[in-house]
Amino acid sequence: MKNVYNFTYLPKVELHLHLEGSITPALLAKLVEKNSTLYSSNSVKKFFSFKNFKEFVESYLFISSFIKTPQDLSMVIRNLASQQKNNNVILSEIHFTIATHVAQKKPIDEFVEVLGEEQKQLEKKGIYFFWIFDIVRGYPLELADKTLELAITNKNKGVVALGLSGFEELGKAKAFKEHFKTAKEYGLATVAHAGEFGPPEAVWEALEFVQPSRIGHGLSIKDYPNLIEEIKKRTIIVECCPTSNLILGAVKRLEEHPIKTFVEKGIEVTLATDDPGMFNISLNKELENVAKILEESSIIEIIEKSFNFSFKKVKK
Ligand SMILES: [Zn+2]
Repeated sequence: MKNVYNFTYLPKVELHLHLEGSITPALLAKLVEKNSTLYSSNSVKKFFSFKNFKEFVESYLFISSFIKTPQDLSMVIRNLASQQKNNNVILSEIHFTIATHVAQKKPIDEFVEVLGEEQKQLEKKGIYFFWIFDIVRGYPLELADKTLELAITNKNKGVVALGLSGFEELGKAKAFKEHFKTAKEYGLATVAHAGEFGPPEAVWEALEFVQPSRIGHGLSIKDYPNLIEEIKKRTIIVECCPTSNLILGAVKRLEEHPIKTFVEKGIEVTLATDDPGMFNISLNKELENVAKILEESSIIEIIEKSFNFSFKKVKK
């Protein structure tokens, strides 16, 4: 058995991961030490165990609450940058949940400044970070308005797309139809988490109202030939994050993950970690795991093609 796959040292892009979900237990311990009188830094481990999506979201919000200052946010970005560098990921398109931080009464304008500033600094080192601001299903509409406004005003500071995330059963994509339409008019790309736990109808709805270039997860596409055809016709990329799906129970076993079906049916896919710190996964490790169900040559093809699926292009 091989220990090192050929893709380990290949340059890569990663197109589906969340900044807040990149926080590792070690980094959270530092943030807790700095910002909390209620918790001790050695109590943080328990925030990294979750049995389902609901518990995961609770942890995600809790962990996010420890990013208190713009300096904390810089620390999180730099920590992720060093992880990406170690994995030879030269470009990352990273979701950021503006609404959480607005709801948690953070200095949001300064936070957004930091995203732009860090992005600029990293670019000088050949690490390309771009931001996707997510509208969250089930949150008040004013927060979606704010997310759209900040995405548009920061388009020249590294924001490339408007995204949709959160519980699929809590908010239909239709509620945000105008937000995504406006985002496109301002030249932003659009993406949506859909079909992760939700039914195929949630994917159809995302196609209609978000008009996404990429779909996050899309697990429920697999058994619906019409949906598969539509995804192919529109050349929509499906972002597969198998470790995330396994940990959160969206698939029971790696062998049941639909990525193989997607590849066989001719759907374009990319591979990503979703929340690398929270799932204790890196892109190289994710690829290594997927090598149990896909040929190494097929994974290399996905890695190479993924450079065409990013919203910003870089030279390898
Ligand atoms: Zn995600």
